[in-house]
Amino acid sequence: MTETLDIQRELRQLPAVDELLKTPAVGGLLERFPRPLVVEQLRHGLAEIRQLVAGERRQLMAVYDYDTFIAAVAGRLEEYLAPRLKRVINATGVVIHTNLGRAPLPEAAVRQAAVIACRYSNLEYDLAAGRRGLRYDNVEELLCRLTGAEAAMVVNNNAGAVLLVLSALAAGREVVVSRGELIEIGGAFRIPEVIVQGGALLREVGATNRTHLRDYEQAIGEDTALILKVHTSNYRIAGFTTAVDSRTLAALAARRGVPLVEDLGSGCLLDLAGLGVGGEPSVRRVVESGIDVVTFSGDKLVGGPQAGIIVGRRELIERIRMHPLNRALRIDKLTLAFLEEVLRLYLDPERVYRVVPTLAMLTTEPAVLKRRARRLARELEAVFGDRAEIAVVAGVSRAGGGALPLVELPTRLVTLDVHGMAAAAVERYLRCRKLPVVVRIADDRVVFDPRTLFADDFQEIAAAGRELVASGGRGQGSGFGSQETEGGSQGAGKRQEKRR
Ligand SMILES: *Cc1c(COP(=O)(O)O)cnc(C)c1O
Repeated sequence: MTETLDIQRELRQLPAVDELLKTPAVGGLLERFPRPLVVEQLRHGLAEIRQLVAGERRQLMAVYDYDTFIAAVAGRLEEYLAPRLKRVINATGVVIHTNLGRAPLPEAAVRQAAVIACRYSNLEYDLAAGRRGLRYDNVEELLCRLTGAEAAMVVNNNAGAVLLVLSALAAGREVVVSRGELIEIGGAFRIPEVIVQGGALLREVGATNRTHLRDYEQAIGEDTALILKVHTSNYRIAGFTTAVDSRTLAALAARRGVPLVEDLGSGCLLDLAGLGVGGEPSVRRVVESGIDVVTFSGDKLVGGPQAGIIVGRRELIERIRMHPLNRALRIDKLTLAFLEEVLRLYLDPERVYRVVPTLAMLTTEPAVLKRRARRLARELEAVFGDRAEIAVVAGVSRAGGGALPLVELPTRLVTLDVHGMAAAAVERYLRCRKLPVVVRIADDRVVFDPRTLFADDFQEIAAAGRELVASGGRGQGSGFGSQETEGGSQGAGKRQEKRR
């Protein structure tokens, strides 16, 4: 009985939002944060306290303190206003990690792109002629030089490029494709469905494992719009297999007067094989083999921004350009600015391996990886002491992004086994901190692959380790009335948990 009265009294004593807004500490908040958000968080906080008061009386003391309350509100505002799209550290060793933003762009490309972003530009203006120009003019020459193609254009992404090419060249007619290449890329991008979406008819030839030249020959007829080759990026058919090579197919296409189009997917501008990385042919080789139109991604092996690059015979590129869908898929100026800068780096084949991160990571020497792994292991040993077991072991990294699917890039991994803490819990702790560290787990150990780490990531991983040690491996507190632990990292984790 008295308890209920107490609660009612407590509730009446809670200040109103208007009163709080006049207090000095909230004045401080108003200087740092937008007023509507401050008001919203004060309301929210008061409502939570009301619930606590009405519910469990014992928790009250911990929250019913003005300073604690304001600090909690400030924490929530900071958390809310922090960027949601944020940098993470990729310790997975998957170089073109689709979930983690694929290709990290070269720093050398950023300055010029920032200028284009913040000012006006000649995006579609021919300065010499003083009239309207083409959006791709600025990259077309570079793309032609780097691939040996006659003409080039760029759209939003490669999926869009494939759809556009099919819509422009094959609508209402047949597209001949080997059954071994009717693949799904992921995200519901399936070749048979894209062909239908492009308004064309699929004419499958051959069998899953074997397609012969005669299969193509027999399928080509009056209604054939084009032959499509698809790079089976993310899988391989092994064993009893046959596929028709590009040159032979190109000769057939030329003989029959049908365009030959290839969706190359990752599309490398250099011969990586020369560096011992996989057997993916360069775009130049594909063009040289006689393919009429080639499409590939800007942010896979090229190491640039998300884009769909289309290169090939001028007359066909013109037709693709004129299609209305091109307007819907057009590339924006920021992407174009980044793409041009990245392509320019390729003009120096000696340096490009060092300045384009994707290429640098794919071609890092084993000796360098070993040195970096040892360095990381030493730093972690210094942090964890006898609280964990740390080792450097041989392992493999992956290109990712559907590129070089069978290629195992040898690397050195650092394994971390924190005593008394499951690998999954350590993984989660690292992933949920303010600057997340994404790792792999193997054999119930957390694994760091130095291949995808930038120089400044090492000290950050060590810092994450120190936080983990300091927290005693405990999870995060939640809401008002619970003890906030040191470091803003906890808050970030909380938000992620809530949003799931
Ligand atoms: C990755 C890929 C695509 C899709 O490219 P995006 O740039 O992701 O749109 C299409 N085809 C192939 C063969 C691919 O590997």
